[in-house]
Amino acid sequence: MTFDIDLKILNNSGLRKILIVGVVHGDEPQGEYFINEYLSLKRTGLKNSLYFIPRLNKNTTRTNFNGVDLNRNFPTKNWIKSDKDEYFGGACPASEPETKFLVKLLDKTAFDAILTIHAPYKIINYDGPAEALASHVSKILGYRVESDIGYPTPGSFGTYCGVERNIPTITVEIDENKAPVDLLERFVELFDYFGFKY
Ligand SMILES: [Zn+2]
Repeated sequence: MTFDIDLKILNNSGLRKILIVGVVHGDEPQGEYFINEYLSLKRTGLKNSLYFIPRLNKNTTRTNFNGVDLNRNFPTKNWIKSDKDEYFGGACPASEPETKFLVKLLDKTAFDAILTIHAPYKIINYDGPAEALASHVSKILGYRVESDIGYPTPGSFGTYCGVERNIPTITVEIDENKAPVDLLERFVELFDYFGFKY
């Protein structure tokens, strides 16, 4: 097992800084594929800085290697101690190395927008001042915008970044029944939007 996290930055001196995080849940691996394929295009001339974490969670189940759901482990006001099931939020807020890594990154970098890639609900969810951005992402990816995912998510990354840090934060839930290769073109367009236009 490894908790090492790769961070790859495209264009260090961009006007705005965008953070794009893949594989928060280990059983939703598509984000790593989209990010690595995009990085292999070696885009130049970007207006913004793109900070890519291809795979936050190196485990292959929902939780990390410690059995913690990283999307319930962020130090938000609504964090709760929960049952030790696949939604276990950890022994305390930010107990996990992956969570600490992101908290530290957010402490030292003022991001203008954040995107995370999940599966399988085929929706765009957003937190913080991101309504207009969400509708733009919705146009590119073809999934509808849902401001409320329909169930409580205490300690989520979206609440931490969007609600509590006021950073426009988009959570994409992709269609897991589609082969990732068939969704790649849309994600290239989305990453290009963040890199060149946002
Ligand atoms: Zn997920």
